[in-house]
Amino acid sequence: MSHHLKIGRGSYRYSCPNCGGPNTEKRLEHGLPCPRCLPEKDASDLGDLISIGRVLEREETISENFRKLVELEREARELIDFFNQVVGSRRVGGPEDMG
Ligand SMILES: [Zn+2]
Repeated sequence: MSHHLKIGRGSYRYSCPNCGGPNTEKRLEHGLPCPRCLPEKDASDLGDLISIGRVLEREETISENFRKLVELEREARELIDFFNQVVGSRRVGGPEDMG
């Protein structure tokens, strides 16, 4: 095979958030796991942990650590949603808005 990933010495500083193995800088910029965890065909339009996690689940390459990360992300979002609802409902249609 003439074209595998160029992963040389020292590339471990770009490590896959899922398996901890070598990853490419480009993938890490987008928060993506390495190609072994997440095949190229799936990697195109994944921008967030939750959708990445979903694909990893499907590929059955998801690690315990990554699953926890996704879980945290979900909880954080719920919290943000909740916060926005509370703040939002105060701003819109609150008694202060009447004047
Ligand atoms: Zn990996």
